[in-house]
Amino acid sequence: MNIKRMPVGYLMTNCYLVWDEESGEAMIIDPGAEAGKLLRAIENTGCKLKYVLLTHGHYDHTGAADEISRKTGAPVYIHPADVNTDSADRGAQLFYTPEPDTAIKSLAEGDELSLGGHVIKVLNTTGHSKGSCVFLMGGEMFSGDTLFAGSCGRTDFTGGDSHEMMMSLKRLHDLPGNFNVYPGHEGTSTLENERRSNYFMMGF
Ligand SMILES: [Zn+2]
Ligand SMILES: [Zn+2]
Repeated sequence: MNIKRMPVGYLMTNCYLVWDEESGEAMIIDPGAEAGKLLRAIENTGCKLKYVLLTHGHYDHTGAADEISRKTGAPVYIHPADVNTDSADRGAQLFYTPEPDTAIKSLAEGDELSLGGHVIKVLNTTGHSKGSCVFLMGGEMFSGDTLFAGSCGRTDFTGGDSHEMMMSLKRLHDLPGNFNVYPGHEGTSTLENERRSNYFMMGF
């Protein structure tokens, strides 16, 4: 399994390209911008894109999702709580508004997807937004804007809730074993390191 981190857009959102050479399957997580660059990176893997996975619906994580989905045929997977269905709702404008012809699939707590022989588990970790999800795959954790290296996501946007964020961080903290952590912004970490040194986890 290969993982490539590609910061995209002016907020330098981490997009992750994950591919399995044996099965020839790939997925992309949070293609926030720069569709052309990401499409070239997908092509360079020689693999077929199976999923466009979104950790949540904020536009800096979703900006290139429609174009990549359309050009590769891979559906977009997102928790429905982070899809903007009401364009008149100002609070919802931060969220993903799919183009009418995009194939959307709903993610939910406990869902499992497969990539090659690997299982991707979906945790609905509210706090940053109602539809925020963390994806676990073997020893890898794609933590979106829930857990950052040394920090956690903001809770002051629509759907954010600081109590729910603490519950979600505790849930991640209490997972058995160690994980490589791939957050939605800035650098990577490990769960063991975050348990030890992340201020928001140190009280658990
Ligand atoms: Zn966000
Ligand atoms: Zn973000």
